[in-house]
Amino acid sequence: MTDRDPDCLFCRIVAGEIPSDRVHEDEEVIVFRDINPAAPTHVLAIPRRHIPSADDLTDGDAGLLAALFLALRRVASDAGLHDYRIVTNVGAGAGQSVFHLHLHMLGGRPFSWPPG
Ligand code: AMP
Repeated sequence: MTDRDPDCLFCRIVAGEIPSDRVHEDEEVIVFRDINPAAPTHVLAIPRRHIPSADDLTDGDAGLLAALFLALRRVASDAGLHDYRIVTNVGAGAGQSVFHLHLHMLGGRPFSWPPG
């Protein structure tokens, strides 16, 4: 798998070709605000490297997964959030619309379970 897919929206955000409201970035991960927020805080954590979905992760991605969760933990802490939801949709049938791995982090309102 190549590091970048030129047709991928989130690869273009990583490259700065499409603007994003970034709240965290490091060597491996970018976190930016969702353009269509479903909660008062709604951000997306993505790897800089193109990975289509969680279904494409390999054993070698363990460190990347930790980096994604730790970045979100930092953003939640900065926002004063202690109750929040982290979710990733895998495949169109589960609601995935952008095929570059992303973890949604939503907070600032009550959540029900199970999600729709
Ligand atoms: P999913 O449906 O799980 O693949 O989530 C994709 C998310 O990307 C949706 O919540 C969209 O609102 C969000 N999104 C799409 N385009 C952009 C963009 N240019 N900047 C920020 N978020 C976006």
